Amino acid sequence: MRPTYQVTELLGDGIGAELSRAIHELAAALPVDLQFRPVDIRLENRRAKKAAIYDEAVEAVTETRVALKYPTTTAEESPNQVLRRRLDLSVIHRPVYTIPGVPSNFRRELDLDIVRIATGGTYDDPGRMIGEDGAVSLRIVERRPVLEAARYAFTLARKTGKKVTSSSKYTIQKATDGLFERVATEVARQFPEVAHSTELFDALLGKVIMAPEKFQIVLVLNEYGDFLSDMACGLAGSLGIGASANLAFDAAAVVRVALFDAAHGTAPDIAGQNKANPTAIFLALSLLLYQVGEIEVGRTVKVATLDLLREGVRTGDLGGKETTESFTAAVAAEVSRRLAGTGTK
Ligand code: NAD
Repeated sequence: MRPTYQVTELLGDGIGAELSRAIHELAAALPVDLQFRPVDIRLENRRAKKAAIYDEAVEAVTETRVALKYPTTTAEESPNQVLRRRLDLSVIHRPVYTIPGVPSNFRRELDLDIVRIATGGTYDDPGRMIGEDGAVSLRIVERRPVLEAARYAFTLARKTGKKVTSSSKYTIQKATDGLFERVATEVARQFPEVAHSTELFDALLGKVIMAPEKFQIVLVLNEYGDFLSDMACGLAGSLGIGASANLAFDAAAVVRVALFDAAHGTAPDIAGQNKANPTAIFLALSLLLYQVGEIEVGRTVKVATLDLLREGVRTGDLGGKETTESFTAAVAAEVSRRLAGTGTK
């Protein structure tokens, strides 16, 4: 019996339809049964159904607990923002790694899992002027989202055998970043088998560039995560190929729902032409498989996709000759070959 998982599929615009076909073909090659529950959040349907379509999406994601979202056109509203608010997605897990075949100025290999608290920090308060020549803003750190992000980071580390670095400016921002590090250390004590270290954030930026192999999972507050993600993506040269997990938690800081998506947009210039690169959505699917506990299957989807890119099996955007369909067929065949004989976790 293949293990079965319900997955909400949030249909998207532009290349969304091609990416959905690619995902279904890859899913058919896996030793698990992904039962997709589609919700049509394409622009026409959003315009026709208004808020009701988001009610439907939220209900489906809440029931299935995991969702794959294709890119959507931002028009009257940003579906990403609406879903983030309605589902209370407070933590973002963004893996960033060098991808073979993607041109980069960086000559080292990088493989970071950035776990970022997506609320608070300095981003919730735009600040105010004090007279004409001074300004002040609040920096907000709360125990709950730090606990949620830390629990997620350490659980991921336990599942994958990786280590966790928490990073902040706790020597200067004693109250806010001090609270963050205290909560991270409390959670670390509940995961004695996971290696945990602390690094000042400015030092971390330098060390990631000089010795990237020293870092695996990095747990950070909102703005640090914002800076680190963009720096790491710049190093990896893979701004358009990334994928993220957007996470919401229950009262016990356990993941309640997780929404996985690609970083790129709807690519209207190539929609319907069999040119879209499905790498990012495959990497999003790999993260989803990790989340449901299918670590080996998730890892195989990621590694097989990257190995094919390394061997030169690439779509046009990466200088290759493959179409969406031929690249998908190659990944599905490779994943199926590597997982032959495995049917259970
Ligand atoms: P884009 O990412 O859609 O496209 C930028 C360039 O990258 C284009 O040349 C495009 O062809 C190329 N590209 C993007 N994804 C590709 C893929 N998978 N394979 C091959 N080439 C790819 O960004 P944009 O043009 O700024 O935005 C287009 C639309 O997408 C806008 O409506 C925007 O709001 C939306 N958008 C949605 C999301 C999301 O839903 N997560 C994210 C970003 C942008």
